Amino acid sequence: MDEGKARCALAEAARRTVALGLNRGAEGNVSLRWGAGFLVTPSGLPNDTLQADQMVYMDLEGGWQGPLKPSSEWRIHRDIYRARPEAGAVVHAHSPHAVSLACLRRPIPPFHYMVAAAGGRDIPCADYATFGSEALSQNVLNALTGRRACLMANHGQVAIGASLEEALRLAEIVEELAAQYWRARLLGEPVLLTDAEMDAVLARFVDYGQRET
Ligand code: 13P
Ligand code: ZN
Repeated sequence: MDEGKARCALAEAARRTVALGLNRGAEGNVSLRWGAGFLVTPSGLPNDTLQADQMVYMDLEGGWQGPLKPSSEWRIHRDIYRARPEAGAVVHAHSPHAVSLACLRRPIPPFHYMVAAAGGRDIPCADYATFGSEALSQNVLNALTGRRACLMANHGQVAIGASLEEALRLAEIVEELAAQYWRARLLGEPVLLTDAEMDAVLARFVDYGQRET
């Protein structure tokens, strides 16, 4: 993909986080692996009006060029691209139900089989650290071990994908699951799937849909 197309796709993905109810205002940020580094949304600007020329290119050492400062969470994005070669895009969101559960600082348990969409038997919650800090990036990376998504204590969620579409869809799934878990807990104590049941789902996801084995 040439740089112009990559910038357009990223700006559109950032606008879509608002349309999908994942973010409001300048909350959250999105990035796309590009060239030897990645493109990331600028810091503190409303997502719903972002344009291609406002996207910031960063190298994997944390260097950047241009008139706009990169997202304050650039370390999370940079550290994921360094540690996870399969990551092509990263979405960070303050989606309402995920935030509410993240304030309990507990993983989303296997109350529904779709929890496996994040890559494991639960969706972990990263330990708390100040937004934009190196410590937060480390906590997120730890929580993402063996996973494609996690909650972030008292903050939000992070989802990674091979493409922007995949990362956005996973962030949407995490938000849906958080809302579903919340409602189930209002009615009672959800019955959790066993490790064996979740492992069967994880095995089935390998070639689910149009995915090739
Ligand atoms: P940025 O606007 O700097 O990306 O910050 C938003 C955010 O979600 C911080 O965690
Ligand atoms: Zn945030």
